[in-house]
Amino acid sequence: MRSEHSTQKMDDRPARILLKRAEIQERIRSLGEQITLEMQGLTPCIMPILDGGMIFTSDLIRQISLPITLLPIKASSYGQERVSSGRLELPLGVSPLARDQDVLLVDDILDTGLTLTTLYSSLLAAGARSVRTCVLLRKQHAVHLHADYIGFDIPNEFVVGYGLDHAGHHRNLPDIRCLETRKNPKSLNQSS
Ligand code: 5GP
Ligand code: MG
Repeated sequence: MRSEHSTQKMDDRPARILLKRAEIQERIRSLGEQITLEMQGLTPCIMPILDGGMIFTSDLIRQISLPITLLPIKASSYGQERVSSGRLELPLGVSPLARDQDVLLVDDILDTGLTLTTLYSSLLAAGARSVRTCVLLRKQHAVHLHADYIGFDIPNEFVVGYGLDHAGHHRNLPDIRCLETRKNPKSLNQSS
């Protein structure tokens, strides 16, 4: 039986491709090269911000030619909505294993900056030696916000795919798409 909630989901088809999988992979290759050069001599502790940063991180680390360690962190500020709640939840806290590490925080998207700003200070407070930040996407209204590595600057639209979700859906789409609410949505196959 389909609930009202899941019927609503069917009307939110992410029809318009913003970034194709090939351009994403090409950009990740050059980000990996840049990180390899700039973190030479270090053993970066790569910290994917779960859940959204998971897919980007798994491709990025294979483009970094340095010894690395992996220390995921769980954070969320969006819940089921398309706008930030303004409150960052860290259900598992910050790992004590971050102490004395050269951390590279990796997230899918920079929007209000709440996630990176909060984690940056929490990691330094937890004894990290250094903290760098890397995001695949930065929204236009966040261009004044700093991250050490940025994949793409994008318009102020709600995007899904390549790890980014809407209420838990669409993370497995290989391209990044804009989420649009339509009366008669085209199917994903028609639009690609
Ligand atoms: P910030 O803390 O910078 O406001 O937002 C970062 C987090 O908000 C990201 O990790 C991501 O989970 C979520 N977010 C922000 N904008 C979008 C968007 O356009 N699409 C999706 N799916 N998530 C977003
Ligand atoms: Mg996130």
